[in-house]
Amino acid sequence: MPGVYLSYPFCAQKCTYCNFASGVFPRQLEARYLAALEAEVRAHAWQWRPETVYLGGGTPSQIAPDALQSLLSAIPGEPWLEATLEAAPGTITPEKARAWAAFGIHRVSLGAQSFVELELRRSGRKHTAQTIANDVRTLAAAGIDNYNLDLIAGLSGQTEASWRESLDWVERLQPPHVSVYMLEVDENSHLGSEMLRGGSRYGAGDTPDDDLTAAFYEMAVERLAAMGIARYEISNFARPGFESRHNLKYWKLEPYAGFGADAHSFDGRMRSQNPTSIEDYAGRAIQPAIPLSSGIKPGASPAALDDAHAEERFFVGLRLTAGIRPEPEEWQRFAGPIRHFIDAGLLETTGGILRLTNRGVLLSNEVFQEFLTA
Ligand code: SF4
Repeated sequence: MPGVYLSYPFCAQKCTYCNFASGVFPRQLEARYLAALEAEVRAHAWQWRPETVYLGGGTPSQIAPDALQSLLSAIPGEPWLEATLEAAPGTITPEKARAWAAFGIHRVSLGAQSFVELELRRSGRKHTAQTIANDVRTLAAAGIDNYNLDLIAGLSGQTEASWRESLDWVERLQPPHVSVYMLEVDENSHLGSEMLRGGSRYGAGDTPDDDLTAAFYEMAVERLAAMGIARYEISNFARPGFESRHNLKYWKLEPYAGFGADAHSFDGRMRSQNPTSIEDYAGRAIQPAIPLSSGIKPGASPAALDDAHAEERFFVGLRLTAGIRPEPEEWQRFAGPIRHFIDAGLLETTGGILRLTNRGVLLSNEVFQEFLTA
C-alpha cells in the first residue's frame, strides 16, 4: 500500500547548516500555501488507500491544529498504519499533542540535532536538552510514545566529549527510533557560505572535518546498538518493530504520492516532482507535477524503465542494512562494480544478498555513484 508525503517548508528560524528550500516566510504566504496544499490533496484522484502519512518540512508542528485537521481529513485511509509529523523542539504543547493524537498522528519526529547548548546555539536552534526531554514527556502524556530523535554528527563545536553528552541524553530518554546524519556542509547554507569566505560566524572555523564526523557517526552506531537501537538504514536506527514504515517505502521502491512544493511522487514506474518554488506553489491552486525518473522521459520503453529501476534499486536498496537480493541479470549487469567494491572491502555478499560493509557505509556515496553510471 502506498504512502503519502506532505511538504510544509515553513520554519520558526533558518538553521545555519540548512540547505533546504525551507525557512522563515511571511504569515500570509503560509496561509496561502496551506490552502494550496489542501486543494492539491483534495483534487487528487485516489486509486488506493494510503497506508502511511508523513508530514515533513520545514516544521509542520507549527501548523495550527484546526488547519492540520482540515488537511488530514482530505487524506483517505485513516486510521493509517503509520502517520508521522516532524516537530521542532519547543513547539509542542499538551493541547497540540492531544490534537495530533486525535487526528491520527501517532508518531513524531523531533528535530533534536544535539543536546549541547553551544552546538544548538551555533546551529541557530533555540531549544535546550531540557526542552527535548519535556517534549518527549508531553507527547507520552498525549499517548504518543512512538517518536524519533534526529541527531547531527559534525556540528560546529562538536567534540568527542560533547557528542558523548548527546548520546548520554539519548540513553536517558530511551527513544524507539533515532536518525543520525553526518553533516556535509553545503555552500548554500549560512554556515557553508561563511566557511567559504573564511569567516567565523556560526562557529565556521570550528567544524569537525570529515574523518572526525565519520568517527562520531561510528561512535553513535556502537552506542545505539548497545542500547538495543540497531541500524536498519545508513542514517536510521530503531528498536525492533519501530522502523519507519513510511521511509522504508522510499528505500524499497514502493509507491508514494507527494504533495506540496518540491514534493516527489513515485507511482511504481515513474517519478514526478512538484514545482520547487513556495511562492509559485502557493500562487496556484493545483500544480502540474513534472515527470522525473533518473533521466527517463515520459513514454520511455519498458526496457529503459527496467534499467532505471535496477540502478535505483541498487542506489536506494543498498542503504538498507538488510541489503538487496539482486536478480541474476543484475549480478551480470553490475558484475564489474560489485567485484571492485567487494575487493575494496566496501560490499559483502552472503546467500545471494548484497550489502554495504561498515566501511562501505562511510563511503556509500562513492559506491552508489558507480552503480548509477554502470
Ligand atoms: S534544518 Fe529543519 S528546522 Fe532548520 S531551517 Fe532547515 S528545515 Fe527548517
